[in-house]
Amino acid sequence: MILIWLWKRLNKTGARPEVSGRLLRRFPEADIAKLLKARILIEDRKVETWGTCAHCDCGYDARIIHEIDGKLVACCPFDPSQDVILEPNDLMRYRIDAEQLIAAIAAAGKLTGTSTAISAGLWSMGTSAMGRSIFLCRSPRDVFAPGISMLLKSLAGSTLPIVVFDETDPSSGIRLRDMEIDVHELDEISHQDQNGIEKISFDTLVPPGNRVRLTVHRSRQAVTLDGRVLDLPSQMLALVRLFVEQAVGPDPRLKKQEIEINTGREAKEIIRDLRNALIGCGLTRAQVDELFVLVRGIGYRLALNREEIEILG
Ligand SMILES: [Zn+2]
Repeated sequence: MILIWLWKRLNKTGARPEVSGRLLRRFPEADIAKLLKARILIEDRKVETWGTCAHCDCGYDARIIHEIDGKLVACCPFDPSQDVILEPNDLMRYRIDAEQLIAAIAAAGKLTGTSTAISAGLWSMGTSAMGRSIFLCRSPRDVFAPGISMLLKSLAGSTLPIVVFDETDPSSGIRLRDMEIDVHELDEISHQDQNGIEKISFDTLVPPGNRVRLTVHRSRQAVTLDGRVLDLPSQMLALVRLFVEQAVGPDPRLKKQEIEINTGREAKEIIRDLRNALIGCGLTRAQVDELFVLVRGIGYRLALNREEIEILG
């Protein structure tokens, strides 16, 4: 995808990000025209010389471009087989407008909110349909800078910040996860649809190799669902834990009477309060209805498999 390719290019070219017409030849002209119109690419200047061959003894800084038989040729003074035939547009240099590019990636991924730069290699992209805060980042060292991880967490509110990295390595990945950063890579957000057209989506980002959806921290009095910390009153937390203990046992159905014995309140009433409290935590009504299911004549059931539940001490 050209937007992702340009973002990688941006990360490699530093303070004055630019790209040559020759490099852009790999993409359809119509795509380039769209980027020019959107001011993501801006025609900057035309160069008059070309880089020397990779392993040349000529000693020059650049090759002169000659027009030979109507063709533009970057000539090697030593080895004619190394001459490069250029298209006129190869000589054009385009500036990449980082802000416009980032906004276009956020829009392609259907994020809401405004994208903004946090530092040179780190962007706040907006919020996904799942309510998660998304960040795009050049490399882990941009997050390890003082104060940055705290800032990301405060921007993400009660959810874990999702950071999509251009490049990362296993040891940085572990360190970032210890910092409660949800680490992802660029190829996870770029997909091909049925027509072979590449799409950007942030909705499928789940922690790698982790099917756990609901985590109960016994000692911390906390519950997280799909990476979102559920900020529930203690009575509601106790009820969620009751559901969880039942769900990991042989019969996941929680009887009305048990709810009433454990909470001292009418089951229907406290379940309604729990649903409202979960909506207050940012879940949609549909998500809540999917999660806590009425079992007629018996009570309620937490609609998660055992593997999707994790109980921590
Ligand atoms: Zn040469």
